[in-house]
Amino acid sequence: MMGGNHALSGALVWLAAAPVLGQERLLGEAAVNLTPKQLLAGAVVTAGAALLPDIDHHNGRIANTFGPVTRVFCKYVGKISGGHRQATHSIFFAVLMGFAMWALATYAIYGWWAALFVIIGFGLRGIGFDFEGKEPQSSILDCVLAGLAVYLMHDLDMSFAGYAVALGCLAHIAGDCLTPRGCPVFWPLRARIGLPLIPRTDGKVERWVIAPVLTVGVVILTMRSVLGDLGVEILTGSNTG
Ligand SMILES: [Zn+2]
Repeated sequence: MMGGNHALSGALVWLAAAPVLGQERLLGEAAVNLTPKQLLAGAVVTAGAALLPDIDHHNGRIANTFGPVTRVFCKYVGKISGGHRQATHSIFFAVLMGFAMWALATYAIYGWWAALFVIIGFGLRGIGFDFEGKEPQSSILDCVLAGLAVYLMHDLDMSFAGYAVALGCLAHIAGDCLTPRGCPVFWPLRARIGLPLIPRTDGKVERWVIAPVLTVGVVILTMRSVLGDLGVEILTGSNTG
């Protein structure tokens, strides 16, 4: 699946899941009621995290995000995880990443900012934000934009980071499951799960079905959130007036 579609699928899953995340009846103390700013930040984090499972690919698009640093990192992740589309394409990895990012955001804010910088860098590269293979210009652009995004989010309560990252990874895995190779969703079990609806990366199905469906979904859910917030403001405004 194309990076841009992975990122879109992440944002879509986040926007769809947001109302559920606020339900205390369902999640108890782990429920988070998101402000509009948090909802937007979460969409950015989830879109970036939706590229994360591909850190097992040393020659993939996101391996080049920060030049040799990420190339070497991805090479080792690939070795440890058993190659491309192995351990990092599983529920285990999604939950592990979600938990790790929640812990960073809650107990080690500088660590979280560093992780956020990397996640957003991956996201930008994934959606094709680079100068067509030109390095180091592309890496510098990634650094500047990711740094700016981290700055914009630095004083936001990001206790929802774990949910965003886990959901992003799961969205990526679901997308890859639609390709012929499938994913070992229940790793360490070896069975690969797949429903090959997308026969070829960047083929007709991806361009003319998947991409438009994801885009329309993100637009509809964004509108729903914005209109929902406006409704709340109008209601509370009329109450106080
Ligand atoms: Zn993948």
